[in-house]
Amino acid sequence: MDEVTPIFGENVFNETVMKARLPKETFKQLMKTINDGEKLNPAVANVVANAMKEWATEKGATHFTHWFQPLTGVTAEKHDSFIQPSSDGKIIMEFSGKELVQGEPDASSFPSGGLRATFEARGYTAWDPTSYAFIKDGTLCIPTCFCSYTGEALDKKTPLLRSMEAISKEAVRVLRLFGNKEVTSVKTTVGPEQEYFLVDKKLYDKREDLIFTGRTLFGAKSPKGQELEDHYFGMIKPRVQEFMKDLNKELWKLGILAKTEHNEVAPAQHELAPIFNTTNIACDHNQLTMELMRKTASKHGMVCLLHEKPFAGVNGSGKHNNWSISTNTGKNLLDPGATPESNAQFLLFLCAVIKAVDEYQDLLRISVGTAGNDHRLGANEAPPAIISIFLGDELAAILDCLEQGKPYGTHAKEKMQIGVTVLPEFSKDTTDRNRTSPFAFTGNKFEFRSLGSSDSIACANIMLNTIVAEELSEFADELEKSKNFNADLHSLILKTIKEHKRIIFNGNGYDDSWVKEAEKRGLLNLKTTPEALTHFLDEKNKKLFKKFGVFSETEMTSRFEIQNENYSKIINIEAETMLEMAKKDILPCASKYAAKLAETINLKKAACGDCDATYESEMLKKVSTLTSCIFKKTAALEKAVMDAKELASGEDSGKTAMFYCKTVFAAMNELRICADELEVITPKELWPFPSYGDLLYSVR
Ligand code: ADP
Ligand code: MG
Repeated sequence: MDEVTPIFGENVFNETVMKARLPKETFKQLMKTINDGEKLNPAVANVVANAMKEWATEKGATHFTHWFQPLTGVTAEKHDSFIQPSSDGKIIMEFSGKELVQGEPDASSFPSGGLRATFEARGYTAWDPTSYAFIKDGTLCIPTCFCSYTGEALDKKTPLLRSMEAISKEAVRVLRLFGNKEVTSVKTTVGPEQEYFLVDKKLYDKREDLIFTGRTLFGAKSPKGQELEDHYFGMIKPRVQEFMKDLNKELWKLGILAKTEHNEVAPAQHELAPIFNTTNIACDHNQLTMELMRKTASKHGMVCLLHEKPFAGVNGSGKHNNWSISTNTGKNLLDPGATPESNAQFLLFLCAVIKAVDEYQDLLRISVGTAGNDHRLGANEAPPAIISIFLGDELAAILDCLEQGKPYGTHAKEKMQIGVTVLPEFSKDTTDRNRTSPFAFTGNKFEFRSLGSSDSIACANIMLNTIVAEELSEFADELEKSKNFNADLHSLILKTIKEHKRIIFNGNGYDDSWVKEAEKRGLLNLKTTPEALTHFLDEKNKKLFKKFGVFSETEMTSRFEIQNENYSKIINIEAETMLEMAKKDILPCASKYAAKLAETINLKKAACGDCDATYESEMLKKVSTLTSCIFKKTAALEKAVMDAKELASGEDSGKTAMFYCKTVFAAMNELRICADELEVITPKELWPFPSYGDLLYSVR
């Protein structure tokens, strides 16, 4: 037997384990809860909990935890052991249905954006039976939602599940119109490709910026970057190979479908892609993947950097969110199919996505908006901040001909009639040919490429699911009234193409001309997170989320606050770290170097009156000029940070974030320029930190 099959899912309380360990009736009940969302009765919960405990303790687990995803962006857990005292002074291992179904972490320190005042700190966690429980480090982890006692979501999973329900309901309505009676639900599916960097732990430990912020705040370019493109898909170094082998094994044990691994564009950059899964599970699995990447790297004496831009001048890391919609009968609704009917249905779903992306460009941009990710979007290494759709030239041309009633390809003579003619074959751009597009159709799925590498994929998918649900709902409203389905479907599709084709762009998204063209088309170009966020609470967005119960208005306000605050906090930590590094390391180093040079000049003069000290004198001048530049820019940054803090004590989180973005961040960049110039002319043994060259080529 191979090595993978026996370990795959060995730490997961999955369907096979449940079937083997639960009484038949309990299993049936639980499956109803998992598949149809039926409420679980307490008696059943008790039986399930007991079986889970038996299974987990046999595998050496001693604790359990509700595992949840608060708005910090990482996962949270609070471990409780299974032990209960028994009358004979001993203990028994116990786990009740109540403990399985609901938990009460003391969660007062998680961000709630004003939703939960600290005096009313209790939030509760509730089991999400659609995601299997699993064992991690001797603890039984139960995936849960996290809500306030007044029912507001305090996490990323709850709205994600709500959005999945919304799109399911609306998609089924649309399918009924096409005469489909079997499908009872649809699920969105996601395969997130995860990029990351690996650096040597010993070097990492010498850089405060990496330790505190996950990225380098200073650092001159190394002589060799990614210009030779020799790293992309290149040979994987032995130490990295060992890491990947170990990581895969850990992921497989947790039932995570780790599939593809390769080197990425930048030196020290790599990627891992799993096989796609239901969105909710893909999201849980991606969180676990990131966690295991960090842990496994540490076992191998390395650090896994998940930051979007750990190094200036080489590519940063993102996450490609491959997204599709699949029926419970196993059909992918974004697959064009081969018959006129399936083509027509495909076109309607395609139009729903096109319209959704056009009308809610702001939400998609916001869903990927973090301080880290702003470094990438629009920096000609990741898609631009402008949201657009890539369909490939052929599919775009087909839509064009449809819209204009012109013949195309095999239909050289007659017009294409939706629902009657078969669509011409078009090449499905499954290769990553156009990597510059933020949202690309790749044959039977869309690839949303703007996500940051460290971010949870929940937000992006909450938006995607909800905005597409809205368009499907509008389409269903209109077509349910129709007396002549095919004719009305035809005109609806044409109308949608006409009104929303401005969002389709197959050209080079890195080109400056695209920025101008997009502006002409009226598309948004929200370059920074604070700028993007000013749109979040627009009426149309409030209406959307309220309609599907994905976010209430208070939940939206709280998320708006948190995203802004988070942005400000991150820039603040970065600025403070820079100040510390400049004051404690860089400026003293500059003085030391200047002193050395001055000393040499004096020594030379003393030794021989007319000895040439041009080199030392010129260097001394340069070092002195850069030192005073660094000194001034440090003071300017210090002032900017103080002003920002004063603003932050006020009420307006949006204004504060904007100030951090426009003023503090700008001051950081200015300081960096002087310091990096100094690094280039400073002897290696004096410079206080490992260089880019050291870091990027540290793992062999
Ligand atoms: P590549 O982008 O390297 O050509 P693929 O397009 O086959 O590779 O897949 C990239 C990712 O998209 C993988 O994680 C894959 O599982 C995922 N994927 C494939 N089909 C779907 C689908 N129907 N829904 C969601 N994700 C999918
Ligand atoms: Mg891809």
